[in-house]
Amino acid sequence: MVAQIYVCGECSFAYKEKELAEKCEAWCKGHKSCNIGITKNSVGEIKQ
Ligand SMILES: [Zn+2]
Repeated sequence: MVAQIYVCGECSFAYKEKELAEKCEAWCKGHKSCNIGITKNSVGEIKQ
């Protein structure tokens, strides 16, 4: 079984929780950079 992951559309970091992915995306869009306090919770970066 594959766990659902959520990916930030801006920086491509993946999260286990939708809330974190949404927070990351909101931050990335607003600040044009990543918030290390959010990305530390990432499970990895999705290469596209
Ligand atoms: Zn992001």
